[in-house]
Amino acid sequence: MPVTDQYAVFGQPIKHSKSPRIHQLFAIQTAQRLNYTAREVSSDAFLAAVEQFFADGGKGLNCTVPLKQLAWERADQLSERAMLSKAVNTLVQQKDGSLYGDNTDGVGLTADLTDNHGIVLSGKRILILGAGGAARGIIGPLLTHKPCLLVIANRTVVKGEHLAREFAGGTDIRGCGFSQLRGHQFDLILNATSASLSNALPPLPDQLLADHGTCYDLAYANLPTPFVRWGLQHNAGKSLDGLGMLVEQAAESFYLWRNVRPATSPVIEVLNAERRQPVK
Ligand code: NDP
Repeated sequence: MPVTDQYAVFGQPIKHSKSPRIHQLFAIQTAQRLNYTAREVSSDAFLAAVEQFFADGGKGLNCTVPLKQLAWERADQLSERAMLSKAVNTLVQQKDGSLYGDNTDGVGLTADLTDNHGIVLSGKRILILGAGGAARGIIGPLLTHKPCLLVIANRTVVKGEHLAREFAGGTDIRGCGFSQLRGHQFDLILNATSASLSNALPPLPDQLLADHGTCYDLAYANLPTPFVRWGLQHNAGKSLDGLGMLVEQAAESFYLWRNVRPATSPVIEVLNAERRQPVK
């Protein structure tokens, strides 16, 4: 009997992860024989769990909160975007047994924005709220689209300033605190804070979003997040959450593992339909 290739996502908490469902839909769509599970793994248990997973024949892993930096440290080789982001969400076992680390979050975001929602990034004023792992992962891919300005605003101001310095180069890129946003306007505001996970919203001035600009919360939920609602209340042309990004980053991981690129739109449609169903 042919062996079924094993994949998994490690994280904590992991119970509500949609990744097993997404990869199941990709596997069906592309006729790939694989099994993908979600496993609760703490930071302390991470290294041993990775060794065990691959010793047991695992082929590839996704790593999510709070493990992305540990995965970055563990990887034997890194993609350029993983090197820049200092975080790894995808581990691929190579033929010689070594682990290749990549970060597909940023391209997942830009694919959702540009391919799925037709949003132009070039020449635009972009604001990122937050300076944690997700913010770090999206800056490089956003900069490849050549916005005219990228501002990183964070609660702990020095972290935003530090990130801006790290990525300084061609584009005008600045770090600041939320209080310094007053009087400025952006075409695209990305919420890369984890505030939505606790139903909170960073303090944002009223005129921050340009008329018909775009709001995008990297977090996703069955109901509109506080930031998605804020966008709708502030005349956003589009106010979106991160479900599309989740599917797009998963598709990029799937491609790295299987060398087959799944179509993402049908999977996003299924997940959107599933989250509209009333909870039983
Ligand atoms: P981190 O813990 O690394 O960073 C959290 C960030 O949020 C920090 O900048 C922190 O500020 C800020 N923050 C937390 N609470 C608040 C608050 N109440 N008000 C203002 N700022 C706050 O998390 P990640 O970067 O890994 O994740 C951020 C978000 O992105 C999460 O919601 C996550 O679910 C989402 N995400 C979505 C993905 C997708 O595929 N859709 C992929 C990856 C992440 P400070 O520095 O001051 O503590």
